[in-house]
Amino acid sequence: MTNSNEKSTAPFFDHAGLVHITEKEFDVVIDLKYAQTDNFTGQVIYLHDQCFLHPIAANALQKAVKVAKNLGYKIKVFDAFRPQSAQERLWQVCPNPDYVADPTIGSNHTRGVAIDLTLLDMTTGEELDMGTGFDTMDVRSHHFYLGLGQEIMQINRMRLLTVMLTAGFVHHPREWWHYQLPHATSFDLVNADI
Ligand SMILES: [Zn+2]
Repeated sequence: MTNSNEKSTAPFFDHAGLVHITEKEFDVVIDLKYAQTDNFTGQVIYLHDQCFLHPIAANALQKAVKVAKNLGYKIKVFDAFRPQSAQERLWQVCPNPDYVADPTIGSNHTRGVAIDLTLLDMTTGEELDMGTGFDTMDVRSHHFYLGLGQEIMQINRMRLLTVMLTAGFVHHPREWWHYQLPHATSFDLVNADI
């Protein structure tokens, strides 16, 4: 669709087939790190602070929210759909394929089927201690890194893993915060510069 006026009545609710993830409708906390300077680049990467996912991933997120709630947790989202232009900016800052997808190949975030997140304790509102912050690019971020304490490794990260596997996502071995749909690369890259 080339005429942007045709989308003006619902600009955020069906953008390129993506689902708009809102705190109210999905009962999550949204804290998009690339819409602010609190990320590894120190720069604002996104031109917006809106959160989107592919419909299948959005459906799985709804399941994850329910599973987390039953365990006493709330989901906090750090990143979801990532426009290709943003992926290119990240690659310029960090051309390390262990942590950032080469934009010529494409990120599963740009397919709308990947999500970065953590768990909040519903009683205290505090993030569970996962041992590192979001986007810490070293071995401590590896999901099953053994050098962290029992509370972090065997309890908190495993709680997140339990929630997300139950909901239908798969984990990323080098990033405890990253989950995506199985067979993520079978989904098309979404050409939407939101
Ligand atoms: Zn990610």
